[in-house]
Amino acid sequence: MNARETKYSRQDSPIPPLVKDASLVGGNWIASSEGLSFSVFNPATGSKIADVPNMGEKDVVRAIDAADAAFLKWRSLLPSDRAKILTRWANLIEAQADDLAMLMTCEQGKPLSEARAEILAGAGTIQWCAEEGRRLYGEFLEGPKSGSKIIVSRHPVGVIGAITPWNFPASMITRKVGPALAAGCTVVLKPAEATPLTALALGALAQEAGLPDGVLNILTSARASEVGKTLTSDPRIKKISFTGSTEVGKILMSQAAQHIQKISLELGGNAPFLIFPSTDLEKAAAGVISSKFRNAGQTCICANRIFVHADIMQEFTDIVLDKIKKMKVGAGWEQDVAIGPLIEERAIEKVKRLVADAAQSGAKILTGGSVHALGGTFYEPTLITGLKDEAPIAREEIFGPVACLYSFEDESDVIRRANDTPYGLAAYLYSADLAQVWRVSDGLHYGMVGVNEPLLATDLAPFGGVKESGIGREGGKYGLLEYTDIKYRLFGA
Ligand code: NAP
Repeated sequence: MNARETKYSRQDSPIPPLVKDASLVGGNWIASSEGLSFSVFNPATGSKIADVPNMGEKDVVRAIDAADAAFLKWRSLLPSDRAKILTRWANLIEAQADDLAMLMTCEQGKPLSEARAEILAGAGTIQWCAEEGRRLYGEFLEGPKSGSKIIVSRHPVGVIGAITPWNFPASMITRKVGPALAAGCTVVLKPAEATPLTALALGALAQEAGLPDGVLNILTSARASEVGKTLTSDPRIKKISFTGSTEVGKILMSQAAQHIQKISLELGGNAPFLIFPSTDLEKAAAGVISSKFRNAGQTCICANRIFVHADIMQEFTDIVLDKIKKMKVGAGWEQDVAIGPLIEERAIEKVKRLVADAAQSGAKILTGGSVHALGGTFYEPTLITGLKDEAPIAREEIFGPVACLYSFEDESDVIRRANDTPYGLAAYLYSADLAQVWRVSDGLHYGMVGVNEPLLATDLAPFGGVKESGIGREGGKYGLLEYTDIKYRLFGA
């Protein structure tokens, strides 16, 4: 069986609901102006789900025209009126959570329970932003001269160009579109080529909720660089909001410099996960499993390097190994499946390369280490020990179901090793020693630190990274402020 073949057949796939085969521009569902399209596939079976328009420069300009035309009216609505529409949208998403989840599982591969949780989280984000949009407070200050006054106010940035990845086909969108719309901005969104169907289904529900035409435009495209260039070269786009690889983030950042577009970048990571002897090992092992294997290891905040204190290494390894061996691999719609397929062949080739290199350099593969017997892009949940910090598997994002354990003895040395990466997105530490928790979390040069907790994404908090993991934050009041400009007015006496 070659890497493309899978034991699932087309007949095994459920028929995904809510499939749309057109892009949303100015309130209309349209085809590409050049008549081009591309296919969306189910990664579990390899079968085609739908053809969607392959939009190019002309279509992007058309979408920017629509978003620009809609901006003044949308920004002028009372925040409470915008909130009503967003709340209706959130409610519709919640009501259709089962269908949206099935659609996501069919195009992305993740287990249905994870897809459902993501859809509900996305609805929650929109609801949260609807409420927070009513609290875009300004500031009043006494001025520099006697009797003078200063008012600082917040204003929507304008038209936003948003580009999102395939690993979270709903929440990567709601985290951008929710705050942007709540702040009074309009949006041109390009979802990932692999997962445009969830985005289109969300767009259809936004329309049903009464979102005015042109406020949210969704362009499906397999010409990402052309779309990126058009968005960054049009001065009507006032901000680029991108989630994806650091490599593409750098390209967009340099392109956005042409018109000094604002930019938010949520990029790659290489998360360290530190486990100290004082911790509850069962709890830490459950944390590792949840962080590492969610979405088959394809998350930007996945535990990439798991540092375990030498005194507990053997015991901890045994607990994790036992848990990994119980994980069921299969199509996301099947009962009890914990690990679905990887998104595409390129992804499995990367995992194979990293694991082969680790094995060659003397690491021990305790379980897994191969493409799964199901074939296709299914990979066995894997546990590796005996690795060196210099190994490619320690330096690169693995983006697959492969857990790597590294031993440490000294606290300050493990902080140094954890920080020894160009990335700075998420880090984790498990310890019952409060003083150690403060010391270590202070020392970790990351935008987010999970202390005895593996799940970091919440609407309440600013999600984002430092160093090459990005610029800006999504979530909390900070996420909304990203879509506002500050104006200060000085009133003379
Ligand atoms: P990617 O290749 O950078 O793609 C992300 C998005 O950018 C896709 O829509 C892609 O379109 C588009 N794109 C590709 N090249 C482009 C270009 N030259 N100009 C404009 N857009 C372009 O990343 P990915 O492989 O989809 O996603 C995985 C990466 O995202 C990982 O590094 C992961 O850590 C990161 N990520 C970060 C966060 C975070 O919050 N920090 C969250 C999730 C994922 P196509 O789909 O058509 O290629």
